[in-house]
Amino acid sequence: MKTIEKNQNLYTKSVQQYVHQVFETVKKRNPNEDEFHQAVKEVFDSLVPVLEKNPQYINQSILERLVEPERIVSFRVPWVDDQGKVQVNRGFRVQYNSAIGPYKGGLRFHPSVNASIIKFLGFEQTFKNSLTGQPIGGGKGGADFDPKGKSDGEIMRFCQSFMSELSKYIGPDTDVPAGDIGVGSKEIGFMFGQYKKMRGGYEAGVLTGKGLGYGGSLTRKEATGYGTVYFVEEMLKDQGESFKGSTVVVSGSGNVSIYAMEKAAELGAKVVACSDSNGYIYDQNGINLETVKRIKEVEKQRISAYVSEHPDAIYTENCSGIWTVPCDIALPCATQNEINQISAQMLVSNGVKAVGEGANMPSTLDAVETFLENNVLFAPAKAANAGGVAVSALEMAQNSARLSWTFEEVDCKLQSIMKNIYQNSKQAAQEYGVPGNLVVGANIAGFVKVADAMIEQGVI
Ligand code: NDP
Repeated sequence: MKTIEKNQNLYTKSVQQYVHQVFETVKKRNPNEDEFHQAVKEVFDSLVPVLEKNPQYINQSILERLVEPERIVSFRVPWVDDQGKVQVNRGFRVQYNSAIGPYKGGLRFHPSVNASIIKFLGFEQTFKNSLTGQPIGGGKGGADFDPKGKSDGEIMRFCQSFMSELSKYIGPDTDVPAGDIGVGSKEIGFMFGQYKKMRGGYEAGVLTGKGLGYGGSLTRKEATGYGTVYFVEEMLKDQGESFKGSTVVVSGSGNVSIYAMEKAAELGAKVVACSDSNGYIYDQNGINLETVKRIKEVEKQRISAYVSEHPDAIYTENCSGIWTVPCDIALPCATQNEINQISAQMLVSNGVKAVGEGANMPSTLDAVETFLENNVLFAPAKAANAGGVAVSALEMAQNSARLSWTFEEVDCKLQSIMKNIYQNSKQAAQEYGVPGNLVVGANIAGFVKVADAMIEQGVI
């Protein structure tokens, strides 16, 4: 018995060493790409038990293949501003993995966009898309363009120039982009128009997140935020808890954030704080969502404008200060690495019970550890925010069938997808000996399907 145990320990150690070696190679071959390293490390650390049980993944070099995107394009995006000056941005598309379907993933327009950010997002997207149960591979793209303060004309000219190049690489059966930070229905509209003009045909399924009048799906706008709350509600239910009567803090005030706040409030929670990249608002009476929607979606103002209409509310500069607000449930819905270990510790000290990641990789690795060590229920991004891309896949299905489902139909499918993702992640965590650890569970459940498909399709 002792010999068997000893051999098992030795084997585990050698698998750990193998994973470590592959990770070191990733760092060497992708220097200065911290976000990409972080995303790979989190997944790799979770996979040791799967690799132990399934040596074919090692023999077939699945990890080595997974860390190398199938294709990356980087391109010049020249455009003319309102003063007649030529501006130049850099565009990207990472076609990360097509083992289970066409590349699928959003476009981000933000000055921080670079190869590391797009690769980490594409890597994460591959497993997230697998978790949805839909036939979609992983991709991501964007540009270091800042839509803030730009006129509609400038945004349109930028989007047209961006799509003139991107259109060479995408298509309804090849690669289907959507929105992300800085890319909402306006930008998608401009890009769709340009794609249509370049192709000379109406390929509705080439982009998702489209306007409802030309092929968009009901519930797509709400899907990521609603989906995050559905996932967290499932996780709470397992512990006999719920959103009802709880105090909630949601970072950001963009697409994901607004609809996470809306659904949390609908389920009986009081949302007391939200933010933008300058600062955060705290409203002890509960955030008035109509005001936030008008300020952010229509008037495109800063979140600080909220306090002039709600005198009880307080605005504080410095967005990361939002994590000092005591709450039962925290939903980071803004951007990557917005919760570091100090913020995580602060949330724990203030009694947070659950954290649900609406944004992609919003918690640093040590923040995640802090939550897990302190038994905070933790819903990782790839599982919790998969509702957006899941409904994007439903948009593609509606486009192919040339029909439109009702809001209720799509919402119902979204709820059932989020429940399945929760159950599958929970089961995988149990099966591999870490019950309750949804980080590991989601990574394993997402990985296995992609890895098996890669093996079945041969070395390509
Ligand atoms: P939006 O552009 O609509 O909103 C982003 C929001 O986050 C804005 O309010 C922005 O403020 C704020 N923000 C940016 N940086 C910070 C910061 N450091 N601290 C606080 N707030 C900040 O983007 P989305 O809502 O679409 O995306 C948010 C996150 O969700 C991203 O991580 C994205 O990848 C992820 N996601 C989005 C999906 C979608 O369907 N849209 C799907 C899955 C994941 P400001 O106005 O000042 O820039």
